[in-house]
Amino acid sequence: MPKAPSLRLGAHMSIAGGLEKAVQRARDATCDVVQIFTKNNNQWAAKPLTDAMVQAWRSALTEYAIGAPIAHASYLINLASPNPELFRKSIEALIVEWQRAEQLQLEGLVVHPGAFTDSSEEEGLAKIVEAVREIIDRVQPQHCRLLLENTAGQGSCLGHAIVHLGTMFRGVGNTENLGVCFDTCHAFAAGYDLTTDAGYAAMQSEINSELPSDAIRAVHINDSKKGCGSRVDRHDHIGQGMITLDGFRRVLSDPIFNVCPMYLETPKGVDTETGEDCDTNNLNTLRSLLG
Ligand SMILES: [Zn+2]
Ligand SMILES: [Zn+2]
Repeated sequence: MPKAPSLRLGAHMSIAGGLEKAVQRARDATCDVVQIFTKNNNQWAAKPLTDAMVQAWRSALTEYAIGAPIAHASYLINLASPNPELFRKSIEALIVEWQRAEQLQLEGLVVHPGAFTDSSEEEGLAKIVEAVREIIDRVQPQHCRLLLENTAGQGSCLGHAIVHLGTMFRGVGNTENLGVCFDTCHAFAAGYDLTTDAGYAAMQSEINSELPSDAIRAVHINDSKKGCGSRVDRHDHIGQGMITLDGFRRVLSDPIFNVCPMYLETPKGVDTETGEDCDTNNLNTLRSLLG
């Protein structure tokens, strides 16, 4: 196995108490990188960021040596919605989120592509393309990419098949401002079997045929409580779910992924056995896998 580049591993962190607190939490958990919500992810509205908030955030990143900061957009956004009101609201909300990400000089803004509800897969994909094109035109991003995340495929959520992401990329055309955030739990739940060489190779070849070579820009490194193909999104601690440590070893040694910053979105708290912080524990497990 060729030696992997040095991994950049981190986690999603709460901004409770201020954006800079997320950076502190990341440092305390031994992260190299951090993901945040720049606002309450279950609300549409957000107070504008002040210069002081941006300053505190930027200095904390420098002080604690945390890199590759990204944000996850609100779960309310649905760019595939057939409901004109929700579609419009989603576009406006994502524009605001992207502008905030630009202000904070984030590298990426992760968004779930959307759910087609009572329309069709085809119509949903067309809506997403239309929305993303308008959003890029209006944001004119200088710094931050929009990262479409693969999903577990619950309900009518699009993006569970890599071909969906390929369709979005081809439709939007502008790949300079676009990327993919690849979630291991979602991929597994969607039916990509990371636990076997054959399943893994099939996924790799789908990625290579559907996406530009540098499309994947970030990884959500999560184990899955539910089985391969379950289409159910339940994150688990690394090695405690169904992906298996071999599955994670494949991901960590794959140049498609290991050049990207990787972020845990696993349950928070303290490990009952070791008494150690769960994020730190998961990061240590990942770090140990490549020896
Ligand atoms: Zn994720
Ligand atoms: Zn998830």
